[in-house]
Amino acid sequence: MSVATGTLVYEKVALIGLGLIGSSIGHGIKRAGLAKTVSGFARSAETRARALEIGFVDSVHDTAKEAVVDADLIILCVPVGALGKVASEIEPMLKKGATITDVGSVKSAVVRDVGPFVPEGVHFIPGHPLAGTEESGPDAGFAELFDERWCILTPVPGTDKSAEAQLVSFWEGLGSKVDVMDAQHHDVVLAVTSHVPHLIAYNIVGTATDLEEVTQSEVVKYSASGFRDFTRIAASDPTMWRDVFLNNKEGVLEVLGRFSEDLAVLQRAIRWGDGDLLFDLFTRTRAVRRSIIDAGQETAAPNFGRTKPDGDEEDGEA
Ligand code: NAP
Repeated sequence: MSVATGTLVYEKVALIGLGLIGSSIGHGIKRAGLAKTVSGFARSAETRARALEIGFVDSVHDTAKEAVVDADLIILCVPVGALGKVASEIEPMLKKGATITDVGSVKSAVVRDVGPFVPEGVHFIPGHPLAGTEESGPDAGFAELFDERWCILTPVPGTDKSAEAQLVSFWEGLGSKVDVMDAQHHDVVLAVTSHVPHLIAYNIVGTATDLEEVTQSEVVKYSASGFRDFTRIAASDPTMWRDVFLNNKEGVLEVLGRFSEDLAVLQRAIRWGDGDLLFDLFTRTRAVRRSIIDAGQETAAPNFGRTKPDGDEEDGEA
């Protein structure tokens, strides 16, 4: 990371949403000294109290409005479907020169829903850290979540370059590598790499548990690695993922169309015994995994680096 520990990037950061991502950002800010103060807001009093107790925020507030007073950076860390409402609430309190960003797993819908509530003189730079786990809530976060993971920023046209550079420094200070692209492109890339894979996992786990000739207890008892790995992804937060699919309709449907065509080709190859087609595809896909490991985005350790039989070492980011 290019920002040294102890480098102040913003005086005050406001975290709106104190779950897995909000709390991990809070821990990361504290680890690297990226801000003097961190204020926080979450919907429930329990989450607010817990955040203060854990200590990844310096203050919590009963409303999002109060939390953003005087903040130089406001990070919206709530489910995508709640972003517009939260943005409308904080709009009157945003200070001139502040930057508002988010961590939502889709980006075009965020520009659509949050953009109208960004006042003149406030910088709006949507973002998405490609890091996560299938856990939720304020206890799930940890400072290392973003280390060596990508964070994609999707600045709107005309974004102030120094505000963008400051946000890049902030994410680098959290340990991330940062890329910039437009929101539509982000949504197609993430549809391929994350959203459709999650949909496939939800679907296969649903299908397996619906099969009449296989009982639920057999599904659990004989779950071999393939199915077990799908269940990990399919255990991801239902609210968050409902919102992802409702808000990246175009990207997901485009990739799903291609996926269905390719699946039909495999179905045909199996029916007609075309082993060469299957072997060639499986050889190509094996090489893809090798390149992901070489890029440092996955471990080559056996059993995905699990340290215990039902380990939770892996990520399930959106
Ligand atoms: P989370 O652990 O469930 O936390 C969500 C937070 O938002 C909680 O503090 C919750 O408050 C608050 N919240 C929920 N619904 C709300 C509403 N309607 N109005 C106001 N606040 C609300 O979720 P997360 O995993 O941190 O996800 C947050 C964002 O990060 C999402 O936009 C998601 O797309 C994005 N993201 C997630 C991952 C991942 O792997 N999880 C990865 C990258 C990006 P309470 O605690 O009081 O309920």
